[in-house]
Order: sequence, then structure tokens, then C-alpha cells
Amino acid sequence: KLHNQVQELKGNIRVFARVRPALDHERDAPDGLAQIAYCDERVAAETGQSHLTVRSRSESAMGKEREQALTFNFDKVFQPKHGQREVFEEISMLAQSVLDGYNVCIFAYGQTGSGKSWTMEGAEGLHAGMIPRAIDMIFAESAKLKDRGWKYTMEGSFLEVYNDEINDLLGNGQFDTKKHEIKIDRDKMTVTDTVALPLANPQQVSTLLERARSRRAVAATLMNERSSRSHSVFALKVRGWNDDTGEESEGILNLVDLAGSERLASSGADKDAVRLKETININKSLSALADVISALGQGTGVAHVPYRNSTLTRLLQTSLSGSSKTLMLCNLSPLAAHLGETVCSLRFATKVN
Ligand code: ADP
Repeated sequence: KLHNQVQELKGNIRVFARVRPALDHERDAPDGLAQIAYCDERVAAETGQSHLTVRSRSESAMGKEREQALTFNFDKVFQPKHGQREVFEEISMLAQSVLDGYNVCIFAYGQTGSGKSWTMEGAEGLHAGMIPRAIDMIFAESAKLKDRGWKYTMEGSFLEVYNDEINDLLGNGQFDTKKHEIKIDRDKMTVTDTVALPLANPQQVSTLLERARSRRAVAATLMNERSSRSHSVFALKVRGWNDDTGEESEGILNLVDLAGSERLASSGADKDAVRLKETININKSLSALADVISALGQGTGVAHVPYRNSTLTRLLQTSLSGSSKTLMLCNLSPLAAHLGETVCSLRFATKVN
């Protein structure tokens, strides 16, 4: 079944950090940049482990300011100078393994503005993100495998999880008013009444992504910045068969842009019931996800993995199991003003690592 040799580094869960650069208008941010130190890149390449250290100030019980240096370990740390190509280099084998029949989940985690959408979708050309790069590569690799008798069909879906409910970003009409249910029968998961489009080439995928994006934009203008308050799940289902050998494979690549992880400012929260409900649902689903990934990392029998605690984890249940591969990309802001959230994101990443 393995026609691509996928190197097993350690287990099937990996956690990366990516610190985005300061944007032009942020260079003169009042509090400046956070102090983040990176480990030696050569050492990291040799050991396959890297870390970053943030310096943060906190007030002691006596009211004295003290500085703390906190170090967090990752499988890979990307600095502001690293571009999309360098990030993709580290995940391309993982994405490609969907052609071997693996289920793969790649998550972008972080506070709003930390670079999740940039990482996943990116911009045109050189700045293309992980979704378009993964798609191009999967089509290119599947074409190469034709010589060895493999044929593939691909199918894409794009769902959003908002307030623990599923919306179809590819449905007809401006809004999705249908109620969708997750059905799991043996190892197959389906979501009722959702669209899955057959995809014959990367251009059709771009059209699909555009359709999803415009639907999301409509929802966002009507409901304050909803896109950062919902999880988006792009799934590419890849079926392969080989007439020469009689082999078959089926894998799904899930690329998930998670809702902003920021905590709600305590003041005024009770005034805004909508915001509060969103925040509760985001917190619940992100911690359910962390619990699932950490249970998988500990080799907990799949029967005991707590998938049922959120819609997001139920939706990804069949793709987050023993033999599947998971990558959590923790996106971080370089600004001192965001340091509190940065430390929270780093702690979350440690929890799943
Ligand atoms: P999020 O999806 O987490 O809310 P975005 O992806 O929208 O964050 O990023 C916030 C801003 O920073 C955007 O203007 C985006 O273009 C920019 N940005 C993020 N990461 C990078 C990067 N690695 N290089 C250049 N610009 C980036």
C-alpha cells in the first residue's frame, strides 16, 4: 500500500510553531515587539526538536514586577523570516500521505490576527498557503503514480462549525438554513445534506475555495467577524485504485482553520450575549480538540478518546484516530501587546505535544 516512503519521525502527532512577522503598520506599535528567542537552527535540524523562549513580565503577589523566561518545545519552529515555501516543505510529505490512504489533519491554531488564514490560504503566487500548495502537490503526485497503475478520484467539501453547529460553505443560496447531522457508520463519516464536489484538477479546487470564501464573507459582514469565531474545515477525499495489482486506498486530508483562541475581555462580556455564547463554544471545542489529540498521543485506545465533547471533534473523529496523522500549527503574533495570548497559545500547544 505504501508507494511513497513516509518517514515516521515520532508517533503520528506533530506540533509546529510559527511566529509571523510584524506588519508595516505594526512596526511602531506602542509596546513594541515581544522578546522571543529561537534555538539554533542547525541544532534543531540535527535533533528534530526545536524550541522558543519568550520573556514575559508579571507582577508578584507583593506587587513587584518580575521577568520570566518561558521555554516551549516543538517539533519545528518557524520564525518571522520563514516563508510559505519553507513551512510547506515540512508538511508536504504529511499531506502527500493521503495518496497512500492515510487520514491527515492539519490545524492552524492561534488568536485572531496571528496568521492562521495566511498560513492556510495565503495570497497569490509565492505567498500561496498550505491549502493550495497541498492541492497542487497531491494532483501532481497522483499524476506521477499513473505510471504505476494508480488512478485516483478526488472530492472536496468545505464546512464551517459555528456555535457547535455545522454550516455548509458550498451549499446553494446565500445562507445555509439546513440542519446537518454527523452520521458515523463503522469507519465512514457523513454529514447529512452537505455538498461534496468532484475535483478533477487544481483549478476546480480554486473555484471551490472561492465559492466558500465568498459565502463566508457574506456571513461575516452580517455577524461581526464571524469567520474568526468559527472553525473552517476543508476536506479532500482521495480514492485510489490500481487495476494492475487490485489494490485500493482511501484517505482524507483535512485542513482546518480554527476559530480565534483569544479569551474574551472580562469587561463588557455579559453585555454581549452573542459574543459570550460564541466564546463559550470556542473554548469548549478547542479544549475538546486538545483532549482528543493528547489522548491519541498517549496511545489511549480509540474507544476512550473523548470525541463526543464537541461537534468539531465528532466531525473529525474518523480522521483523528490511531493510524491517522495530525499536525497542529500554532500561529503566534510577534507583538508585545499580544504576549498574554501568545503564552496561552504556547501552553495549549504544550498540552497537545
Ligand atoms: P488570522 O487568520 O489568525 O486571524 P491572518 O492570517 O488574517 O490571521 O493574519 C493577520 C495579518 O497578518 C494579515 O494581514 C496577514 O496577511 C498578515 N500575515 C500573517 N502571517 C504572515 C506572514 N507569515 N507573512 C506576512 N504577512 C502575514
